Formats: sequence, structure tokens, C-alpha cells
Amino acid sequence: MIIGIIGAGISGLSLAYELQKRGVEYQLWEATDQPGGYIQSRREAGKYLRELGPNSLLGDADLLQWLDELGLTPELTFSKPVSKARYIFRDGRYQKLPSGPLSLLFGSFFSWKTKLAIFQERNNKTVSPEGETLAQFFRRRFSDEIVEYALGPFVAGIYAGDPEQLLVSETFPLLLQYEKEYGSVLRGFIKNQSATGRRQSFSFKEGMQVLPNALADKLTNLSLNNPVQRIDKVSDGWRIESVAGVKTVDQLVITTRADVAANLVEPHFTELSRGLRKVVYPPMTAVHSVYKRVDVGHPLNGFGGLNPKKEGQFSSGHIWSSSVFEGRCPEDEVLFTTFVGGQASLANARQPDDVLFRRVHQELSNGFDIKADGPVYRASQRWEWAIPQYDANLAAIKQPIRNAEADNFFVCANWYGGVSLSDCIRKAQKLAHQLTE
Ligand SMILES: Cc1cc2nc3c(=O)[nH]c(=O)nc-3n(C[C@H](O)[C@H](O)[C@H](O)COP(=O)(O)OP(=O)(O)OC[C@H]3O[C@@H](n4cnc5c(N)ncnc54)[C@H](O)[C@@H]3O)c2cc1C
Repeated sequence: MIIGIIGAGISGLSLAYELQKRGVEYQLWEATDQPGGYIQSRREAGKYLRELGPNSLLGDADLLQWLDELGLTPELTFSKPVSKARYIFRDGRYQKLPSGPLSLLFGSFFSWKTKLAIFQERNNKTVSPEGETLAQFFRRRFSDEIVEYALGPFVAGIYAGDPEQLLVSETFPLLLQYEKEYGSVLRGFIKNQSATGRRQSFSFKEGMQVLPNALADKLTNLSLNNPVQRIDKVSDGWRIESVAGVKTVDQLVITTRADVAANLVEPHFTELSRGLRKVVYPPMTAVHSVYKRVDVGHPLNGFGGLNPKKEGQFSSGHIWSSSVFEGRCPEDEVLFTTFVGGQASLANARQPDDVLFRRVHQELSNGFDIKADGPVYRASQRWEWAIPQYDANLAAIKQPIRNAEADNFFVCANWYGGVSLSDCIRKAQKLAHQLTE
């Protein structure tokens, strides 16, 4: 048996590695000259470590064990304890989000109405109707303020998304499980605290790209610079036409972006192809800015600052990259990673560099008390197709995806079953098991 895999981002690489471990023959095609897809790190000017795509992995002991198997334990760097603090822009300044019941109760971040709603959530007997969005879910169980000043900024920061569009069933199914099982999201979290508490945030000393490079180094059948141009169903599997030639495989797995997948599957799975064309990917631009530490008045003791849509800021937020991980820039400097765009502000992501840089510097200066006229280093990275939105369009293609499995066609992409890197790795492990059992 031979399994074909289209695309060598984290999903395709992890799947290929798992198959190789099991002694199963596979072929992995990658269109570009480097493995990793969205994962790209650059060491600039010999000192600044920029993450062009993902900044960190959130994983449990199983994931750490898997990375150890790959020989990556010495390369790991864990987020600094100080980065547990999260800040939200409110009333003209970045304020610390309450991190526990005491700071919630006695702090001034949330109104008394919201505090009461949080403490009374356990008595809220309402149940999620089908198709409920994240915003509707949090409004029903908590308050508008929670949607505007906690959920909204997090969803924009993590998913580049709009909580009024994303479905709770597709983004955080655990919340529905807690509501159903415990009658309360908070009670669910408290009961499962030890299980969720074991997850850690980490990266690699030389950046996220260490991971795809390590996987690619282990693989014997990875073909770079070799885009797949056409796929055809044949009696005993799939015939794959790529730039370098033709190959027939028994089973085929696609890991590419939804629009690429839509083109390839169009002649075979019309409904799936039509659904894939509707998947929404907002654009997102990452701006990296480095300042001298002495020029920054704010202590930056945290993960970063997020911007609620209501506050009308230019970006969706800033990661204080040098506060989160060691080795991102020299000790006497600080590195910010600012995300501009997402579903809430599509036009901002597409501004030319001069506008982007000016607006980002302005926002950083005001928010973090920066004295300098500009950063000592800056660069941008544009993602016209950033993150697939887990909305009603994506929910609608779940069944067509399952139907295609009857034709030995499988999906292991970030638009099915989870978008985070740890989701992608977990899904690849599961699919490898399913295909070889
Ligand atoms: C700006 C940004 C920040 C993010 N931050 C985080 C984060 O901090 N933590 C986190 O967990 N997740 C984060 N994510 C999400 C995460 O990076 C992605 O969901 C994940 O990398 C997707 O991996 P993938 O392998 O599924 O897809 P991709 O990375 O898209 O890989 C698909 C591969 O297919 C290749 N390909 C395309 N067409 C063809 C073809 N015809 N033939 C062969 N190959 C083809 C592509 O070149 C690509 O290499 C972020 C995403 C973005 C955009």
C-alpha cells in the first residue's frame, strides 16, 4: 500500500513521519522549496528572531514526548512565567486582565454586572441552540462586556476571527461539553483543571521552523519544488500528476489550503469543491518592531496587549515577543510582533508598508510609552490567506469530507478539526493510525 500526501506543512510532515515510523510507504509532495507551510522563522541581522507565522505551540506531555522522539528536547524554549499575564486595551491604556477569582472580584477591569454574571454562571440553566456563534454563547452565559473585552480580542488575536461569525461547536466544542455535562462552563473548567493545566506554551531556541526542518530531515520520500497539478480517480486509487511526473497511490490525503484543495477535487467531489470555495480566510499582516529597552517606558511584564474592536485601534494586538521567549533580540532591546488585519479589519492588513509602519509605531508609542521616533529595526510579513474561519461554511463541508473517505480520499488540513499546530499534529497522528490499522 502507498499513501499520497499533498502539502508539507506541519500536517503533511507529521502524517508522513507517522507513516514512515509504521513502515508504510508514502509520497509527500510540496509545492515550494521549503517544508513547514505557514511555519517560517528568520534570524535577521544576526540577532533578531522573527516568526513570520505561528509564534508558539501549546502542548501537553504527549506532544513533548513526541518532540523528544524527534530529538528536539534540547532545542525547546518554554515561555517565561511572566508571560502568563495578559493585557487588554481599555480606556486609553493596556490593563491587566484578571487572572483568578480574587483579581476578578477586587480588580476594576470588569463592571459589577459582569462580575455578578460570572459568579452566577453556575446557575444559568440555558442550553446552546444549534448553530450558536461564540459571541451568542458568551453573551447568553456571561455578558456583553465579556464578549467585547475578553472573548473578542482573544478570538481576533488567535483566530484572526470575529466571534459573531465563528461557531462555538466548531471552535470550542469543549464549552458545549461542559455546559451539557456540568450545567456550567466554569464548573467544567474547575473539575477539569488538572487535565487542562498540564498544557505548556513553548517554541524552539532558533524559532518554530526548527520543527518542520527536523521532520523533513527524517523523511525519505519528501519531494520539494514539486506541486501537484491534477488528481484523477483510478480503479485502485488515485493518479497524481505533479510537475516532476506521475504516480499512482492507493489512498490520498490533502493538507493544502481550502482554495487549492477546491481546484484539485472539483472533477471528483463537486459538493466538497463548492463548499471549499466558500471557506473564509481573512488577511493578516505581522509587523515586527525592535526598540531600545531604555526608550520603552512600559515594563512589558506579560504576553502582550490585545485590542478590542470597540476601542478602534489599528492592529488586533501585540505580542511582547522578547518578554515571552529568551533569545529573540539582544538584552538591551525589545521585540514586538504586531498583528494587523483579521476579520475585524480586513482593509488594515492590506495597507502599504509605509502606512502600516507609521500606524504600528504610533500605536506602540502611545500604548507602551515609547520615546524613540521609530524602531531600530522593523519588517512585515503579509498573509493574504491567514487562518480559515470555523464558521457555518466550514461546518457545512464536514459531511462531504466524510463522504469522500469512501473513495480513499482523506483530509488532514487546518480547515478540518482544528487550526492550531498541536491540533494539526494530533490529527495527523490519528489519521496515520486510521489509515494503517
Ligand atoms: C500569522 C499566523 C499566526 C499563527 N500563529 C499560531 C500560533 O502561534 N500557534 C499555533 O498553534 N498556530 C498558529 N497559527 C496557525 C498554524 O500556523 C496553521 O494552522 C498551521 O501551520 C497549518 O499547517 P498545515 O500543514 O495544515 O497547512 P500549511 O502550513 O498551509 O501547509 C500546506 C502546504 O501545502 C503546500 N501546497 C500548496 N499547494 C500545493 C500543491 N498543489 N502541491 C503540493 N503542495 C502544495 C503549501 O506550500 C504548504 O507548504 C498561525 C497562523 C498564521 C497565519
